[in-house]
Amino acid sequence: MTKRTLSTAATGLAILAVLGIGYLLGRSDSVPAEARAASPVEALEERDIYSPGTEDLGPDEMRIVALGTGMPSARPKQAAACFLVELGNGDKFLFDLGSGCHERLAAQKIPYDYLDKVFLGHLHVDHMGDLPTFWLGGTVMNRLTPLRIWGPSGGTPELGTQHSMDLMKQMYAWDIGTRSGVIDFRGGELEIHEFPFDGINNVIFDENGVVIRSIPAVHGLDGAVSFVLEWNGLTFVYGSDTIPNKWYVEHAKGADVAIHECFLPPTLLVTKQGWSPAEALQVGTQGHTSPEQFGKVMSLVEPRLAIGYHFYNDFDTEPEVRERVRRTYDGPLALATDYMVFNVTKDDIQVRMSAIDEDIWPSPALKTKISPDAAEIPFSKFTISGALPLTDVVQPIYDEINEIYGTDHEPLFKE
Ligand SMILES: [Zn+2]
Ligand SMILES: [Zn+2]
Repeated sequence: MTKRTLSTAATGLAILAVLGIGYLLGRSDSVPAEARAASPVEALEERDIYSPGTEDLGPDEMRIVALGTGMPSARPKQAAACFLVELGNGDKFLFDLGSGCHERLAAQKIPYDYLDKVFLGHLHVDHMGDLPTFWLGGTVMNRLTPLRIWGPSGGTPELGTQHSMDLMKQMYAWDIGTRSGVIDFRGGELEIHEFPFDGINNVIFDENGVVIRSIPAVHGLDGAVSFVLEWNGLTFVYGSDTIPNKWYVEHAKGADVAIHECFLPPTLLVTKQGWSPAEALQVGTQGHTSPEQFGKVMSLVEPRLAIGYHFYNDFDTEPEVRERVRRTYDGPLALATDYMVFNVTKDDIQVRMSAIDEDIWPSPALKTKISPDAAEIPFSKFTISGALPLTDVVQPIYDEINEIYGTDHEPLFKE
């Protein structure tokens, strides 16, 4: 641009600015005084978005939060399987703990002591991949009660939940060794409840007015189940993974909320995921439930709300999944994505998305913590020989804390 055109452009802008100010002045003269009054300052009553930790849960209300709705590979938008159920009596339940769901759980602003009940529908990694971080990480985040885990038996003992959890404890022996005697580690204890995978509508939990039953599922190997939770006249069903099966259709019948997997259709498994047609058909309809199969199941179950999950839910997949579900089901439907929230009462089911606070910290423990006894140095002489105690740096840190809290702690490492 030349100097001349620059100056012409500047002149033009100046003229536009003058015209604009004149226009605005003219407008303000014509606006009635009442319309120029201050805008309202009260909080809005209507809430289209759920902000965790800001809403009371009614005594008869159930809140369900989708914390993992995607595929075995967690991605920023969707973790693997996990649903949180909160009840108006204060009880909270986790159904599956798939890879990546733990950070979504942290975003719910619930003290970890109240997140002590986990129900595993089967032992695929996308349904229990975040169990170790939730279990052991949870002890650092102030869970002071044992973690209680319900899960199915398998076709043989070594394919069952108890064996899996025993091995998990062994796998994390080093982690456990570092925490015992250093923090209040009561939350490191595991309380395992393995129940028969082939129990049909057997009660596996009955406390505080909440009854949870298990029904067999058809997925992977013997040892997959679905859950039916009943409380206060409301029924919640969680399928975990399964192809359509008679037990789900029978025992989810008429549920208030029925969650069932709804996999990507084989067409998209081929085009988006790069699978062969044989893989897509086998996995998409014989190992998992395609949208058309999901719709058929829900037509038979007739829930107040059907929730499909377990697919990458995007602008270019959701329309096809929905259209295929609608070939076989025309009832109430939500295709879940992470942070979708369902508020359920006998009269209403509200579906919203959450607004998440990314700066959230874990909530402090509400129970009293027990200070660990002064720990012994857990290292060999070799490792100790490498430590630099830096007493002139560390001692003032101890002095500061001891002065504030009236304690007399001493550093483990000394010169
Ligand atoms: Zn699975
Ligand atoms: Zn799965």
